[in-house]
Amino acid sequence: MVHVNQQPGTRAAKVRFVLLCILAANLAVVVAKLVIGLNTNSLAVISDAMHSSVDSMNNILALVVISFAAADPTRSIPTGTRNSKPWVPWP
Ligand SMILES: [Zn+2]
Repeated sequence: MVHVNQQPGTRAAKVRFVLLCILAANLAVVVAKLVIGLNTNSLAVISDAMHSSVDSMNNILALVVISFAAADPTRSIPTGTRNSKPWVPWP
């Protein structure tokens, strides 16, 4: 497991907090769209709930990526990886 700098106030901690907030919001949207779609038998709303669930998966992927990007220096990467450029397009 990658050792992640989780000290409060660091850039990675701020990014992680924002990603967790967005994930929570996306999950709330998924639940709301599923409830509305199932109650109204609307395939359009249900399919949009699936779309929002993919957005949530993107948030989870971004959390994984930030954990690698914020990793502390190691013996093999003595400068750390905090200067890594993101390779995943943000949703
Ligand atoms: Zn989307």
